[in-house]
Amino acid sequence: MSKTISINAGSSSLKWQLYLMPQEQVLAKGLIERIGLKDSISTVKFDGRSEQQILDITDHTQAVRILLDDLKRFDIIQSYDEITGVGHRVVAGGEHFKDSALVTEEVIQQVEELSLLAPLHNPANAAGIRAFREILPDITSVLVFDTSFHTSMPEKAYRYPLPSKYYTENKVRKYGAHGTSHEYVAQEAAKVLGKPIEELKLITCHIGNGASITAVDKGLSVDTSMGFTPLGGVMMGTRTGDIDPAIIPYLMLHTDDFSSPEDISHVLNRESGLKGVSGNSSDMRDIESAMEAGDHDATLAFDIFVDRIQKYIGQYFAVLNGADAIIFTAGIGENSDLVREAVISGLSWFGCDIEPAKNVRGAEGVISTPEAKVKVLVIPTDEELVIAREVERFKNQ
Ligand code: AMP
Repeated sequence: MSKTISINAGSSSLKWQLYLMPQEQVLAKGLIERIGLKDSISTVKFDGRSEQQILDITDHTQAVRILLDDLKRFDIIQSYDEITGVGHRVVAGGEHFKDSALVTEEVIQQVEELSLLAPLHNPANAAGIRAFREILPDITSVLVFDTSFHTSMPEKAYRYPLPSKYYTENKVRKYGAHGTSHEYVAQEAAKVLGKPIEELKLITCHIGNGASITAVDKGLSVDTSMGFTPLGGVMMGTRTGDIDPAIIPYLMLHTDDFSSPEDISHVLNRESGLKGVSGNSSDMRDIESAMEAGDHDATLAFDIFVDRIQKYIGQYFAVLNGADAIIFTAGIGENSDLVREAVISGLSWFGCDIEPAKNVRGAEGVISTPEAKVKVLVIPTDEELVIAREVERFKNQ
């Protein structure tokens, strides 16, 4: 029996989960926030307890030390030797990482070089990887890439109709994201449906604060809504998703808000989506409450959100030439019966039909009617578990 940590490092945060493997039992989990700022917060949850401390954490190496000290302080482990593996989520793996990879100095450098594709995420991921390598150099250390699952996309799906040199020289192509989540829920859905994944065409909808939709054919990603970066695709909490690219030069010419690349990126990534249209919140719970109170802008935000999901699902019926099931996951997909009902009610022509009694908060499994040609499922995602399983796979190689 051994213990494995899944790590998801953000620019100023470090989310972790400790597993007993191979039992896949969660022993503890936690979040360190405000790394590099004053009053950083470390939260540890275990045995029904939640412990929090506020202290100044200067960088990811110190954050890792604090997390490991906390594990000992709370008697979750007696010594570091019990930890035999660590798995790190990495956002951008580019074209190179088609599979998870064992950590070496060369691999860390490749992750750092790929920061061009994920400037907010990859440097933070690399900092988390280096921190663990420094403190626990001898354990099995594995990188799991958000993009690997999508490397099976055909060229016609991942290339943009731009001059080819921007692909060959600048690597501009669709990479997608949320790969571990799409792969996990597709495999879980096959189990629920009782069919080999090789016989299924699935449309997986990861709808959280970030959102993406993937067409999965025989277990392989053949197209996905996020693009060169996680800005593309459906509307999100604060991101636009797809918009007419001509809007950008137009706003550069006619407003003061778009003078630098950073300004453009800020508006499209942080001020748009549900937040931008509602003028209120990026959080679907707030949008739903405001909608109930009759707020016009919140209702419009909800309607656009649903419309874009429906259109992507429609596209993927075409890409797959039909589908056996649609799967909802992540914060909104798992919890918002209103969003699921609104999306599916517009897809009845395709053979989708939700059973209202099954489409309740907390629903899991099949929520479509027995007669529906296309099944609809809710499958809670578990990206941390996928990461821990990948570490296990490398240990057993
Ligand atoms: P995630 O990024 O996967 O954590 O998802 C975050 C999103 O899930 C936020 O927009 C939340 O408002 C939404 N969410 C979480 N719980 C609910 C709920 N009960 N009803 C509607 N939306 C929810």
